[in-house]
Parts: sequence; structure tokens; C-alpha cells
Amino acid sequence: MSFCATINCLDGRTQQPVVNYLMQRFNVKYVDMLTDAGPLGILTDTPDSERALLFEERVDTVIRVHDIKELAITGHWDCRGNPVPRETQIEQMGDVVRRYRKLYPQLTIIGLFVGEEGEIEEIEIS
Ligand SMILES: [Zn+2]
Repeated sequence: MSFCATINCLDGRTQQPVVNYLMQRFNVKYVDMLTDAGPLGILTDTPDSERALLFEERVDTVIRVHDIKELAITGHWDCRGNPVPRETQIEQMGDVVRRYRKLYPQLTIIGLFVGEEGEIEEIEIS
């Protein structure tokens, strides 16, 4: 069995497209979904909050129990939990991806954006 993980919104419109994309992208059988309402906003506006730190705790857990090697940081169109424009979400995503790459150098970490029709865009983050 192989797993990867994503930090994703709890918005149901984002779940299936992200799972489908990541199963192919990383050739895994399962995708562990770590969710909250608008995680990009939580992780950049209040990075030291309990809600933000809970993500690190859960990433630690999926590394330990499922030996994940890949993590996607996901944002999406029309996010009610993080109601900022796409460009702002991409900036937030960059901040989170870079911070998590420092925290988890053993993981491949990518950014994803889910569009209005459920289409997935992989965001280049250096
Ligand atoms: Zn959302």
C-alpha cells in the first residue's frame, strides 16, 4: 500500500479532483486528507495557532503511520474559509510550501490549485 497526503480545504468540491490527481501524480493508492476551512489562510495568517500546529502534528502522524513521501498544499476557487483572490492564495501557498520544505526536507512538497470546474493546476514553487 502506498500513500501520499494533502493539506486541503474541507470543501467537498475539492476532495475527489485532488484525490484523483494525486493518485496519478505520485502513483499512490491512497491520499490522506488533512482538512480545515481554508487551510492556506490559517497557515499563513496564524502560523503559531493551535489550528495551524495541528497540521504539523497530523503531517507527523501520516509520515509515521503511512510512510508518506509526498505532500500537496492545496487551495481552491471560491474558498469560503479563505476568501481571498487566487493570486493571494498562490502567495500563501508559496509561503506554506517553502516553510514545510524546511520542516520536512525528506518530503516532496507541491502546490495545487483547484479551479471552478474541478480542474487541477500544479503551481510551480521554488
Ligand atoms: Zn475552501
